[in-house]
Amino acid sequence: MATHYRRILDYLGLARGPGGLEQATRLEPRHDPVPPRVPGGSEIGEDAMSRRWALPGLAPAARAELADARTMEQRERYARNIENFIGTVKVPVGLAGPLRVNGVHAHGDFYVPLATSEAALVASYSRGAQLVTEAGGCAALVLNEGVSRAPGFAFDTLAQAATFVAWAAGCMEPFRAVAAQTTRHGQLVDMQLTVEGNHVYLGLEFQTGDASGQNMATIATEAICRYIVEHTPIAARAWYVEANMSGDKKATTHSFMSVRGKKLCAEVVLAPELIERRLHTTTNALVDYSRMSAFGGVMSGSIGVQGHYANGLAALFIACGQDAASVAEAAVGVTRFEPRPDGALYVAVTLPNLIVGTVGGGTALPSQQACLEILGLAGSGHALAFAEVAAALSLAGELSIVGALAAGQFTAAHQRLARGGSGPSAAS
Ligand code: NAP
Repeated sequence: MATHYRRILDYLGLARGPGGLEQATRLEPRHDPVPPRVPGGSEIGEDAMSRRWALPGLAPAARAELADARTMEQRERYARNIENFIGTVKVPVGLAGPLRVNGVHAHGDFYVPLATSEAALVASYSRGAQLVTEAGGCAALVLNEGVSRAPGFAFDTLAQAATFVAWAAGCMEPFRAVAAQTTRHGQLVDMQLTVEGNHVYLGLEFQTGDASGQNMATIATEAICRYIVEHTPIAARAWYVEANMSGDKKATTHSFMSVRGKKLCAEVVLAPELIERRLHTTTNALVDYSRMSAFGGVMSGSIGVQGHYANGLAALFIACGQDAASVAEAAVGVTRFEPRPDGALYVAVTLPNLIVGTVGGGTALPSQQACLEILGLAGSGHALAFAEVAAALSLAGELSIVGALAAGQFTAAHQRLARGGSGPSAAS
């Protein structure tokens, strides 16, 4: 978090030039009149929207763009997903594919909707998907599932914490029963206890059916905490429904070592001719680059080693109504390129924190549901298949980016697609 000693003075603007000290006054609190609050809260009616659009500084042209006729017609469908609603933002959606997935749950050829404003992203994933498909598809497998919440309990002494732990460790069954009263599809499946001085963290792990499950886990955890408060032999000085140990919306070593959401592997074997024809490079060149890239990742301190899972996952999450902020935790894992004696290339991705669902959250919003329908994976019974497609997509993206970098085409592809310049295609 350090800044170079010379450059920091430029940013502070305090030590140099006339008016330097005046700059410092810009950082002080201001007590002039506060603008009106955004009115109407969770109201989604036209009146409430008009009152919001009447706030100072909101241009009518922006209203026309965000609160367009279709959005207004469907606005009730957004009611449970947004507060202070003023409309919708349109994000371009492209299709990557076909992507052949030979999964246990997803078994077929998919056109994957990706919502992004980043040029070259869809082209790159589409190229990787076609490569996977021409190789006969990728295997994809869910290996584990679990969504955690980590309530924290503060005591005065270690002895009190230990007394609490001795009681809580025997409470799995009542905790399970309390959780079951809050949800039909969620289930408490595990509990880990962490003692740190006079603090106790409960690592509660849930299975959440076809929902990504963060709300479900939170609601069940709140109920368990209230049961604890009522029944514990030793009262906590304070308790919190989440004590920031669950890894929610952040990349953590703990989640990486276990699971958060779904853990998956996907793999493909590429023949040398296919690599030559589609990536314009060789197995050895890909392996050489992937080795250097893996060491670069390790030396930069990344959790796991991979190229750019976040690109495809963010675009897939936005298109399909997943919580986009969960990309922070989902986009970790390991990509491995390995040469085979016959010149073929084995590539595997492992993603332990793929937190996705096909019901709940934003999955029933109009265009998000439409994107899930393009995949044939909207609604109950499809979460594991959706996770396998997401892992396969991540694999496709890794192949494409490593191919572009190994073949020296990475810059040219972005230049051509984002800037309209000319250059050899890494994305076709
Ligand atoms: P949710 O929409 O809150 O809950 C899922 C709902 O779907 C439940 O009412 C569930 O019923 C129902 N359902 C119907 N069929 C189901 C099936 N086959 N499988 C599972 N559930 C089924 O969604 P969520 O997945 O729990 O939470 C996701 C949202 O939480 C995301 O939008 C995310 O932004 C947000 N989030 C919340 C927190 C938090 O701490 N609260 C943190 C991060 C993110 P039952 O409950 O009766 O089973």
